[in-house]
Amino acid sequence: MKILKDDCSGHIFSAIAGLFIIAFILMVILFLNVTYTIDNENNQAIASDNMKYISTDYIRNIDKLSYDTLEEISNNVIITKTPLKNSNDQFKKLLNEKLEEKNKEYLDKYDVKISSNVISIESSDKPEYLIVKVYLNFEKADERYRDVVEVKTSVLNLKDPLGILLCSEYSDLTYNESRVLYKNSLSDFLNKKNVENYENYINATAPLIIKKCPYDPYIHHGDGNVLYDCIKNGYYHESSDGSCYLCRLEAKPVCSHYGFETFIIPHENIKNNLSSVSAPDHVVFFENYFGSQYSYFENKIIFIDNAHKLKYGL
Ligand SMILES: [Zn+2]
Ligand SMILES: [Zn+2]
Repeated sequence: MKILKDDCSGHIFSAIAGLFIIAFILMVILFLNVTYTIDNENNQAIASDNMKYISTDYIRNIDKLSYDTLEEISNNVIITKTPLKNSNDQFKKLLNEKLEEKNKEYLDKYDVKISSNVISIESSDKPEYLIVKVYLNFEKADERYRDVVEVKTSVLNLKDPLGILLCSEYSDLTYNESRVLYKNSLSDFLNKKNVENYENYINATAPLIIKKCPYDPYIHHGDGNVLYDCIKNGYYHESSDGSCYLCRLEAKPVCSHYGFETFIIPHENIKNNLSSVSAPDHVVFFENYFGSQYSYFENKIIFIDNAHKLKYGL
């Protein structure tokens, strides 16, 4: 009976010990599993953050490459004095080439396979920005990230090719780092279009660099020396009549997009004609309607029509 009892308690002990061992093994398995899962999730988080970092970094590059592309195109248009047939296509082609190079760089640096395609470049509701749309696909190991990104690309501080493209075939136009010096070219251009008093634009000048006029609202141009300062600095203004930057690259003085206008300034020693074609560049180059003389500083004058006088508060 005693033996039996011992035998019985031995069995009970073995059974309990066995249960403990099983429970321990289960706990170890469970613990390992939990650790593995947490570790795995961490890895995924690290990978996703990494991908996020890479894609953000890449998208930041598009902005700069896009501006560089525009700069390269406009410099080339000005040097060759040849307008683009399609600024959109030219831009897409050139930016795609730049992105291809960037993609190779990212493959070497981050081991990420990127494919990119510039979908479009379009004018926006602000003429100083163009909207560039790019399709992107990032692949690394089994991770994949796809997106169509929209990048706002500034056109500020780029050269404006419009006047150079329109007048360079007429003799002696030149330009320096900030202004276009028309000499006889603009008056020849106007004469060819049978615009009266074209001589007033002999030796006229205009800005070369796109700079946004800070005197906004424009109605304040009539205050103090505002117009003088605006003209001296060669500022550009928003205009629904003037052409956008992409159309300027195609030598179009007007377009359907929201664009710019800047003033073309006659030489101080003009013949004393009281009226001549009005100063905003889209008027001088295209619409050709007249304005009266307006003195903006001592003996400095522009010709300006009533509608633009109203716009600028003159
Ligand atoms: Zn201004
Ligand atoms: Zn346009």
